[in-house]
Amino acid sequence: MPSGTRLTLDRIACNGHGICALMAPSCITLDRWGYPVVSGEELEGKAIPEARRAARACPAKALKLC
Ligand code: SF4
Repeated sequence: MPSGTRLTLDRIACNGHGICALMAPSCITLDRWGYPVVSGEELEGKAIPEARRAARACPAKALKLC
C-alpha cells in the first residue's frame, strides 16, 4: 500500500558523497558521476526506514522526506 511518503533531493545542496545510496539502496541509485538519483515516487516497505536513515545521515541535508 502506498505510504504517501516521498523522498526528495536538493541537487544544489548535494555534494555527491554517495553515502545515501549505500544506506538506502532500495530507493536511491547513483548516476554515472556518482550523484544520487531518486524517483520521487511514493515509498513503500523497507524503502521508508532506509530513506529516513539516509536523510538523517546526509552531511549536506540534501534529502528530505515529505
Ligand atoms: S549523502 Fe547527501 S550529499 Fe551525499 S550524495 Fe547523498 S544526497 Fe548528496
